[in-house]
Parts: sequence; structure tokens; C-alpha cells
Amino acid sequence: MSARVTLDGRVVVVTGAGNGIGRAHALTLAARGASVVVNDLGGTVDGSGSSGAAQQVVAEIRAAGGTAVASTDSVATAAGGADLVGRAIDTYGRLDAVIHNAGILRDRTLAKMSDEDVSAVLDVHLAGAFHVLRPAWPHLVAQGYGRIVLTSSSSGLFGNFGQANYGAAKAGLIGLMNVLALEGARRGILVNAIAPTAATRMTENLLGELTDRFDPQHVAAVATFLASEQCQLNRHILTVGGGRVGRIFLGVTPGWYGGPTPASPDDVLGAVDEICRLDDFIVPDSGADEVTLIQRVLGGPSGPS
Ligand code: NAD
Repeated sequence: MSARVTLDGRVVVVTGAGNGIGRAHALTLAARGASVVVNDLGGTVDGSGSSGAAQQVVAEIRAAGGTAVASTDSVATAAGGADLVGRAIDTYGRLDAVIHNAGILRDRTLAKMSDEDVSAVLDVHLAGAFHVLRPAWPHLVAQGYGRIVLTSSSSGLFGNFGQANYGAAKAGLIGLMNVLALEGARRGILVNAIAPTAATRMTENLLGELTDRFDPQHVAAVATFLASEQCQLNRHILTVGGGRVGRIFLGVTPGWYGGPTPASPDDVLGAVDEICRLDDFIVPDSGADEVTLIQRVLGGPSGPS
């Protein structure tokens, strides 16, 4: 029999779980035995307004025999994040995993982007992760166990026209993942990210004729695995959509070495093709791994180049 992912007895907070991908996460986690804190402010795609989206998902979970409670806290504030974590602890007495999924869009080119367009998007996606994870972290550390799943995007990792605010926030989450994965590993806390593609109100009219194939449930299966005890991955970015799951990674090449005397800008110009070659890249496990690579290239303590 193949291995089975289970969240029996686990408590999971899912931000932005009132719609789309987050809703699918919540339903799947609950179906696998988790008690789920379904968090959603219930606003529109640009973050304005509010509705009873979280309560509706809780009702769906309970109707299916699962366990869930709603939270309408906004992750865009530190107080909202603290209240959300408090809701998990007060209701279920523990917290095992956080899936930070809440998101809004304020798409504009940089020339047309207001300060508010920048801050609103950074506050939900990037600062929102800090708002939830800072109060969650001591609980995870104290029990020596935790799973964190951050929601990045190809927009931040590869670029997308008109999404400077969103792309920066989504790439920032990868920086957060890289560091928390190192800080958490010795405490049993594993931190990973997904870069999803799914048919939701956020991607309305964007996925063309294959829209029906991009059921958010495809994404939920991966997030549920990453939130489970069975997951032993750490510091990975999984790209998932339409049934395909892949890995996105950041690599670095040995590059070009101009010798111990500082190169001139002309030397750099002359070497630019070699500098940008992709051969022999490595995928470092930390910033320290890149230092080891540099030492190797320079013929330092890690061995000759
Ligand atoms: P969605 O709009 O259906 O869901 C986002 C949810 O976040 C909404 O229910 C919204 O009310 C909630 N939310 C917004 N601000 C909040 C706040 N301050 N506090 C709490 N909840 C808040 O969109 P979705 O497509 O399901 O997106 C889910 C996540 O996946 C987002 O982070 C999004 O950026 C990311 N993503 C989605 C796609 C895709 O193809 N749909 C692609 C890349 C990344």
C-alpha cells in the first residue's frame, strides 16, 4: 500500500481560505483530519469590502463531517495575525501548520502605481506572512514541530508585466522561506513554498480554453502534503497547476574569475558571455554554500578551482 498523508490531530491555519485556492486547501486539510482555522477577510480581489466567505467554508467543512472554525482577521496587520493565531490556540489548544495563502491584486505599471497600491499588496502578501508567523513561531518551537507553506508566484519568480508590487511581494516570500527554513530546521519546523496556477476569481479570463483543467484542488493536494508530518522537504518551491507539479530553484554558476587584482569594467564587458553561462550551476542549500563555491573558484580552503 502506498504511503498516506494524514493530518489527524493537527491544527492548521489557512489564510485567505474563503475563496479559490485557500478554500480548496481548507477542505482538503479537513478531509485529511486536520482542525482548520479558516481565515478570510472576505473582500474583493483588490482587497476592498468584506463578506462571510470564511464562515461559508467552515459550514462546508462541518457539513462534510470535518472540524473548522472561522476567523475574519486581516493578515495585513500585526494585530490581525496575533488574533488569528490566538483563535487557533484558544479553540484547539495547539497549532501545527500555517499555510499563508491570502492575497490581493492591484495590477498597474510602475508609472501608474500609487503608494497605496504598493503598501496594500505588500501588507497582505509579505508583511502578512510576518504578521501570522511571528506569533505562530513560539508555539511551533515549543512543541519541536511545525510546517509552514508560503504562497509565491511565477510573477515574482519569473516576472509578469504590470505586477511590480505583487511580484516583489511574492519574491520576498521566497527570501523569508530561505531564512526560516534554516532557523526552523533544528526545531522540527519545515518551511516550503508553492507557486500555483489555478482557475479562481484572481485569474478570471487569464487561463484561456484550458481554464477548466486548473481546478484549485490540484494545488490543495500539494499544499496539504507540504503541511503534513509526512513531508520532509525543506526550503523547496513547488510549482503546481492543472495536475502538473514541478520544482523551481535558484542556482548559481561558478562564473568567471578575473584573478586577484580587481577587474576593470572593460574586463567585465569582455567576460559578460562567460559570466552569464549557465553550465555547472549548483543549487545552494544556504548562502554559506555560495561562499564555499566562491572559495573553490578562488582556490581557497575548500579546494582548488
Ligand atoms: P482569491 O482571491 O480567490 O483568494 C484570495 C483570498 O485571500 C480571498 O478570499 C481574500 O478575501 C483573501 N484575503 C485578501 N486579503 C486578506 C487579508 N488581509 N486577510 C485575510 N484574507 C485576505 O485568489 P486565489 O487565486 O485563490 O489566490 C490564493 C493565493 O494564491 C494568493 O496568494 C495568490 O496571490 C496566489 N496565486 C494564485 C495564482 C492563481 O493562478 N490563482 C497564481 C499565483 C499565485
